[in-house]
Amino acid sequence: MTDDCLFCSIVAGDIPADVVAENGQAIAFRDISPQAPTHVLVIPRVHQPDIGSLVEADPAAATGVLTLAREVADEAGGSYRLVFNTGADAHQTVFHCHAHVLAGRSLGWPPG
Ligand code: AMP
Ligand code: ZN
Repeated sequence: MTDDCLFCSIVAGDIPADVVAENGQAIAFRDISPQAPTHVLVIPRVHQPDIGSLVEADPAAATGVLTLAREVADEAGGSYRLVFNTGADAHQTVFHCHAHVLAGRSLGWPPG
């Protein structure tokens, strides 16, 4: 838990979120500004700034994030995109590791 981290506050229940699934390592909730019919964020319960540091510090938590992301994607049905924006130039704005699960529409490539 990091005091000034938005997603740590969601893990702690101090800030509400539309939680759709969870497991022992991770929580999945709807993005507040959805970019697709299904747009769910999957975050580890532990604080790490990005997927690289998470997999190094806590591989079980990284597996928990990926397992939950797969469950959310399966629930959405069809094709999906799993995105870890990492670093400010890649449009990471919240520095608590999170996967975006995007589904429910045709997704362009390259992503821009
Ligand atoms: P990123 O730009 O990859 O760091 O993604 C951060 C995401 O968090 C954005 O898509 C935001 O819309 C989303 N977001 C920010 N605050 C909240 C919140 N309180 N609940 C749900 N999603 C949020
Ligand atoms: Zn955090």
